[in-house]
Amino acid sequence: MASRRTTITDTSSSFDTPLAHELAEIRRRKQALASSSLPLPSKTRIITVSNQKGGVGKTTTTVNLAAALARSGAKVLVIDLDPQGNASTALSVEHRADVQSVYDVIVSDEELGDVVQKSPEFDRLYCVPANIHLAGAEIELVSLVAREQRLGRALRRYLDSLDEPFHYVFIDCPPSLGLLTINAFVAATEVLIPIQCEYYALEGLSQLLQNIQLIERHLNPDLQVSTILLTMYDSRTNLANQVAQDVRDHFPRETLDTIIPRSVRVSEAPSYGQSVISYDPNSSGSLSYLEAAAEMARRGVMPKKSESTNGEGE
Ligand code: ADP
Ligand code: MG
Repeated sequence: MASRRTTITDTSSSFDTPLAHELAEIRRRKQALASSSLPLPSKTRIITVSNQKGGVGKTTTTVNLAAALARSGAKVLVIDLDPQGNASTALSVEHRADVQSVYDVIVSDEELGDVVQKSPEFDRLYCVPANIHLAGAEIELVSLVAREQRLGRALRRYLDSLDEPFHYVFIDCPPSLGLLTINAFVAATEVLIPIQCEYYALEGLSQLLQNIQLIERHLNPDLQVSTILLTMYDSRTNLANQVAQDVRDHFPRETLDTIIPRSVRVSEAPSYGQSVISYDPNSSGSLSYLEAAAEMARRGVMPKKSESTNGEGE
């Protein structure tokens, strides 16, 4: 009897452990996410995920935001525009060299609808795959007519042909500012920039913003940097906190409150052909991407006119 009482006491005292706190926090976040549904946009939001640095979380962000929104009931298309085809891999979509891909759309005028595949991840999640052929597209595009507009025109044609529209289109860019990325900027209405919470994070950002401004001026007046997402955040380092604060100071309007933590589950998911949303729904990485998606959906499309608060140019 005495030993049984001891056991009960031990169990209750365990509620004060860091693990118990973490579990309680996860439960609280899950409840908050479950308790409200997300608004759907009235017009398709076309979001280019771009940063000319490699390894900052572009593909991870594309795949997981798309999966999070599809899980919440939105119809979502991911266009993989990186020859590495990482987004196609993560969404378990076939992208061998003999599969029709975004390359055929951009270079050979194939219809986008003919290369779209359904991702097995979620019911309303679709993907235009990329494969190795795309590596040559930067050069092949140079001599083609309307070389900057090819993706944009194909996408518009496809979206206009649909009875049931997409709510979101995400375009996963390669790590460069070449013609493929320009095609993505011309096709999109919004740019989402993932920023890794590490040293050098802000380097190259002004060049990216200048390029976006040039596109806006000359090729796509609808384009705006709508969203900045801090990724791979490690709360134990002062540096990560400093970078996060710097980004918020520079971009108070665009930066999401949600920060994506560095998490092993996030990096493991693609090797199973999954988003972290389905691979480990209760992990901190999954919850963070669900929260970021909810924030984007609730904020909707911001009005463009106060964009000059970016502090760039003009
Ligand atoms: P990019 O598309 O910008 O090149 P990726 O999304 O491919 O970047 O990410 C680069 C690497 O970092 C990948 O191996 C990915 O699994 C890993 N990664 C991305 N986000 C996280 C995260 N939040 N926690 C841990 N690893 C991450
Ligand atoms: Mg990538």
